[in-house]
Amino acid sequence: MLDADFFRRWMTTTAAAVDREAAHLTELDSAIGDADHGSNLQRGFTAVVAALEKEPPQTPGAVLMLAGRQLISTVGGASGPLYGTLLRRTGKALGDAPTVTVGDLAQALGTGVAAVAQLGGAQAGDKTMLDALLPAAEALGTSFEAARDAAQAGALATVPLQARKGRASYLGERSIGHQDPGATSSALLITALAESDG
Ligand code: ADP
Ligand code: MG
Ligand code: MG
Repeated sequence: MLDADFFRRWMTTTAAAVDREAAHLTELDSAIGDADHGSNLQRGFTAVVAALEKEPPQTPGAVLMLAGRQLISTVGGASGPLYGTLLRRTGKALGDAPTVTVGDLAQALGTGVAAVAQLGGAQAGDKTMLDALLPAAEALGTSFEAARDAAQAGALATVPLQARKGRASYLGERSIGHQDPGATSSALLITALAESDG
């Protein structure tokens, strides 16, 4: 069973991964965007960790809803509202249970990912974070490791795609041949989930 501690660990592990990979995320965004994805997420997850420390929420759902609110209010770019929505809607779907199963989380994450697709109007293959998140949510029905592998494969698979949403879409065919920054950070988020287990 996964408790509030597990979810706080997921957020702090994600924050550490974002810190470690910030320069890489910004470099990817400099190729097909405006070179701020690493700093956007660093600012966001630093605020998430601070908020979780200040008043630690006592349920899994409350942890994710607080994290999502922080991302929405501190990240200026497209990714703030999208990641904020992902975590808020996933947290809301978990309800107020003190512990949840991996199956509950898989289902809730599916709800959160669907909310991201609705908010951003993107679908699979548009070269966005969804290309990592959709296969990850699906594979989480099997295991954390399967979700991690699916997210990492999904991020790599964005390289040959032409972007159809977000800033990168302004480049048209010139977006081909670069890995999407948001799909890359989504793989960090799901890898952190697998690392928080046990
Ligand atoms: P901005 O583009 O505003 O500078 P970021 O650089 O922080 O924001 O985030 C860019 C990432 O956001 C992209 O790599 C992509 O994965 C994701 N993204 C952008 N627009 C959308 C969308 N409509 N739907 C899903 N993801 C999107
Ligand atoms: Mg950007
Ligand atoms: Mg920007």
